Amino acid sequence: MQSAPQGPIILTFEDARHLVERYAATLCPRGKELTQLLGGIGLILAEPVSADRDFPPFPRAARDGYAVRATDVESIPAELTVIGEIRAGGPEDSEIRVESGQAVSIMTGAASPPGADAIVMVEHTSRKDNQVEINKKISAGENIVPAGSEAKQSDRLLAPGMRLDHAALAVAASVGRTHLLVYSKPRIAILATGDEIVDISALPRRNQIRNSNTYSLAAQIQAAGGEPILLPIAPDEPARLRELIVDGLEADLLLISGGVSMGKYDLVEQALAEFNAEFFFTAVQVQPGRPTVFGQVPCGTGALPRDELSAPSKHKYFFGLPGNPVSTMVTFELFARPMVEALAGITPRKLVFFHAKLKSEIKTKTGLKRFLPAILSGEFDQAEVELAGWQGSGDIAATARANCYIVIPPDREKILAGEWVPVMMR
Ligand code: AMP
Ligand code: MG
Repeated sequence: MQSAPQGPIILTFEDARHLVERYAATLCPRGKELTQLLGGIGLILAEPVSADRDFPPFPRAARDGYAVRATDVESIPAELTVIGEIRAGGPEDSEIRVESGQAVSIMTGAASPPGADAIVMVEHTSRKDNQVEINKKISAGENIVPAGSEAKQSDRLLAPGMRLDHAALAVAASVGRTHLLVYSKPRIAILATGDEIVDISALPRRNQIRNSNTYSLAAQIQAAGGEPILLPIAPDEPARLRELIVDGLEADLLLISGGVSMGKYDLVEQALAEFNAEFFFTAVQVQPGRPTVFGQVPCGTGALPRDELSAPSKHKYFFGLPGNPVSTMVTFELFARPMVEALAGITPRKLVFFHAKLKSEIKTKTGLKRFLPAILSGEFDQAEVELAGWQGSGDIAATARANCYIVIPPDREKILAGEWVPVMMR
């Protein structure tokens, strides 16, 4: 057996998060594939999408009304002669031109005719035969979206690295893209450890616990753009644990749950050390999740080389996440997620907290940055938040009831009702 890890490396939350972000910035996605437009929803774009023509392609009427010359309606009411009508999708080769004293009836989405420089909304007009009375002044350019003002032909509208949502799909559709290149999902291995942990299909004995971490992690991995690879449960026994770590290192990233605390049977760090692991941190000053471990193992110790798209990485990264179910969930969000997202090709982004008014006082201890399951309520701009009332890091039911986490700085012992507190959404 090799020696134990090089001694504890305990970081503050911010330092640990920044360190993960720095490693994440060095990662590349595993490959690209073509998807049909609708199949791409939620996937990560792997190519730029550019405008195939000017947007809008013609000066577009933004209102139903009358296309006029602004100088003709400087004094109101103004009487103009209606010389025609242009509807959206109407003839392309219309020769209508608005001269002084004239107006053209026009519909939203139609091309504003030459000569006109503004559109008076129909609400501010009254029509009689071929005469229209304009009752509101208007300035040049009003209610006309100039050709090419939203985008010029070949402008980049979507950048690689963005997650395809409904708005991105609308952009792709508007430039005629029936298919898009997206990044292949990274394979993220999940290894739950613990002698007491049993499969969910087994009937647990009194001293056993069903494996829930594999499933919460699988869901979080999918939400972060990865494909979860579920490994069998590892017992607290070095040989089998090692075997499963070898399997896990074949994935793009290995997440291990449990076995990273100080207990006699917490063997994960020791097992990883036998793969010549380098530990970047072995604990973070957070609650829940203090014993979180992050590090790398040189490739070649059971790890496959990465494909040609990726920078030739000499390492496989791993996290050891504390096994308490809420700790596993929170530490994935705080530390593992940026690595999964980077492997998925998502453009890096910072973790941001929102603020909400605390509903009832919180008393806690100093020393750790806390992420406590909480319930956000209220309405519109009156967001209120309160603790979900949990029994500690094992309380999955309280966490399932919660919809966010209240973030408590390490130096606060008491937070009063009515204070604005940072909130991490879930
Ligand atoms: P550990 O981090 O291994 O010391 O485990 C801490 C606590 O989390 C113990 O109460 C374990 O029973 C529980 N636990 C560990 N792994 C899992 C898991 N996969 N699913 C549910 N609970 C777990
Ligand atoms: Mg354990």
